[in-house]
Amino acid sequence: MGTRIWLRSSTRTGSLPWLIWSFLCLMRPWRRSKLTRTKSKDTHFSTYCVASGRNYAKMAEGDHQKAVEHIRELAKSFSDDKVIVYDNHVRGLCDGAFYSLAMQMKDGYLDGHDGEWIMEPEALLEMMKVYWMNGFQIHVHTNGDLGMETLLSIVETLSKVSPRVHHRTTVEHAGYFTEEQADKIAELGLLVSAAPYYFYTLADKYSEEGLGPVRAQAIAPMKWLFDRGVPTTFHSDFTMAPSQPLLLAWSAINRVTADGNSFRDDLKITAYQGMQAITKNAAIIMGTDDIMGTIEGGKLANFTILDENPLAVDSLHIKYIKIHAAVYKEKMRKIN
Ligand SMILES: [Zn+2]
Repeated sequence: MGTRIWLRSSTRTGSLPWLIWSFLCLMRPWRRSKLTRTKSKDTHFSTYCVASGRNYAKMAEGDHQKAVEHIRELAKSFSDDKVIVYDNHVRGLCDGAFYSLAMQMKDGYLDGHDGEWIMEPEALLEMMKVYWMNGFQIHVHTNGDLGMETLLSIVETLSKVSPRVHHRTTVEHAGYFTEEQADKIAELGLLVSAAPYYFYTLADKYSEEGLGPVRAQAIAPMKWLFDRGVPTTFHSDFTMAPSQPLLLAWSAINRVTADGNSFRDDLKITAYQGMQAITKNAAIIMGTDDIMGTIEGGKLANFTILDENPLAVDSLHIKYIKIHAAVYKEKMRKIN
């Protein structure tokens, strides 16, 4: 898989004017030049980049400690005030994709096929251990409940070997997990960046094939995380979902599927929680909440102005709210 733009939000589509790149491998010249272009003064958003631990390990012939040094050097040499490469965040990969029914499920699939590991659990543990000891925040692509179980057990192991108060390990995607796992996520201090649009696109289809109705209807159970105070944000994983934060929040708030069905109302979050997810919580997870995420004195004037109040309209209308303007570094630009 190539570089993927992982849009939390953008000036065109709502919420904070910033975006996240993952799978980052800036040693490759075309990627470097692409990102260099976003440094232009005409770009009205900031870009935050998280390096791929797997790619950097490949370049360092499997030596993760060497990869850590490469990432730190890159962060120093490439970052400026518009494109920021983190020197203390890294990305890992656990189980397969949700859209291709390749995630690892504890109770398997209806047709008996097996899920996949993108990184075998032993390899993921080995990689995470090095970054953990170096004080990194590790973001791990994790989809099914067996993937989640694996990640949680790795974090539990590492916490015993070398306890860290704020390790901030982040589950990326979190397509399907159990309520007991939500307890564990909270207990171990993980953060979650979820893909709630999976519910909209896949709950109908996976009720018929792959998972069956009980599990399919409980895809993306965001309420369990909010109830436990787990900092949770939403991402599109573009092109897996439109890069529209309001639409992502709408999915988690309403739990309506593409066929117009509504499943598991008990797992809906409130409109307020949905807005927190795409503003304040996004900033918390990316470690930028000291300068953005909420509108208050001392923070950057980076925010989006909506045409209607998402807390006052019918929750089903939230995805239709127009973006009036975006303010980036104190300059306002009209969007529509
Ligand atoms: Zn992923």
